[in-house]
Amino acid sequence: MNGTSAEAAGTSVIACHECGTVHRMRPIPQGGAASCRQCGATLYRQKPDSIDRTLMLTLAALILFIVAHAFPFMTFKLEGREETSTILTGVIRLYDMGMWPLAAVVLLTASLVPLVWLSSMAYVLLPIRLGRLPWGVARLFRITEMLRPWAMMEVYLLGVIVAYVKLSDLARLELGVAVYAFVGLILVMMAAEAALDPHRVWERLGAQASAGALGRLRGGLLISCHGCDQLCRADRATVAAEPLCPRCGGALHRRKPNSIARTWALLIAAAILYIPANLLPVMTVVYFGRGEPDTILSGVKELVEAGMWPVALLVFFASITVPVLKLLGLTFLLVTVQRRSTWRRRDRSLLYRIIEGIGRWSMVDIFMISILVALVNLGAIATIVPGAGAICFAAVVILTMFASMSFEPRLIWDAQEKSDAGRPPLRA
Ligand SMILES: [Zn+2]
Ligand SMILES: [Zn+2]
Repeated sequence: MNGTSAEAAGTSVIACHECGTVHRMRPIPQGGAASCRQCGATLYRQKPDSIDRTLMLTLAALILFIVAHAFPFMTFKLEGREETSTILTGVIRLYDMGMWPLAAVVLLTASLVPLVWLSSMAYVLLPIRLGRLPWGVARLFRITEMLRPWAMMEVYLLGVIVAYVKLSDLARLELGVAVYAFVGLILVMMAAEAALDPHRVWERLGAQASAGALGRLRGGLLISCHGCDQLCRADRATVAAEPLCPRCGGALHRRKPNSIARTWALLIAAAILYIPANLLPVMTVVYFGRGEPDTILSGVKELVEAGMWPVALLVFFASITVPVLKLLGLTFLLVTVQRRSTWRRRDRSLLYRIIEGIGRWSMVDIFMISILVALVNLGAIATIVPGAGAICFAAVVILTMFASMSFEPRLIWDAQEKSDAGRPPLRA
């Protein structure tokens, strides 16, 4: 790039995640946010007492997590029999039925990843608060930030609501203590996330970066670390050797490696699996010995016929609209990037941001199935059996999430230098 200043390698500058434009960081009012002038993405926010508040909320969330997992979640009552379940009952039942891929997905996204996220957040923030930094904190914080999209408790809650509505005309349902703890946990975790200012944390962890490592990175190219936003300078030879970020220890690349090929591969795999995901049954409700398999679409149809419009719309949006939007949207982004199009870059950046944000909500159906399987377990009276379609559908959601993560949004803006008149902005 056009090496304008030496301070471009310091901490007072930041490169936009989505277009690479380098901005000087300016003080902004409390609660305010700075946006990229080029693509409109949020660059950083000013959050009061970020570290203290995030730490307190994280510790509160850990306590709620234990309560939500230790106590009964829901009780299902039918024909004088009852079945009490906890959050983990669905996972165990799915595993017993030979559906271990589904069991693994539900266990990871609804319990394990949130627990790891909360624990490592406490492990990073507590030493910062106490002023002593143990080994490996920076690396751990980088991984913690990467885990966040895979913690899907709020989506699980939506699955609980759908399952509750579906069962309410079949039997009586009682909510347990764990449901209230779970709702509290989601609210507190959202508050912790809102209070977290990663730049503040990186500033405090920055002391660990060795000056020697930074000194080696001199030359023409600016690289923004994917993990911690540290801006580094490097020459082409250094970039080719894939250096590590001096602050967080992550690999430094100018662009995500092989982004286009990887995104295409994941996208095509998802598109292929999308066919059996819709044709095969996702579950079968056996009620007094009789049962009909349900696909995703017939599940929505049943909700409509039962007059449950809001839930039907919600499931339709999450399970049908969102995956199609992701498949088509990412294809469109890949094709325009490969054609080096400069058409409506700001809107395409926005499209990418939407695709990344909504992807996880498609998991609703999978969570709903795990809850139904756990609750409706009364042998010949009523049982719910998951189908192969559910595994395909979970694979579609996960593959499209990986696809949107491996897409490099800065490629949308890389076509710009040649076509725009005037001096292009400094980009990383
Ligand atoms: Zn930008
Ligand atoms: Zn880094």
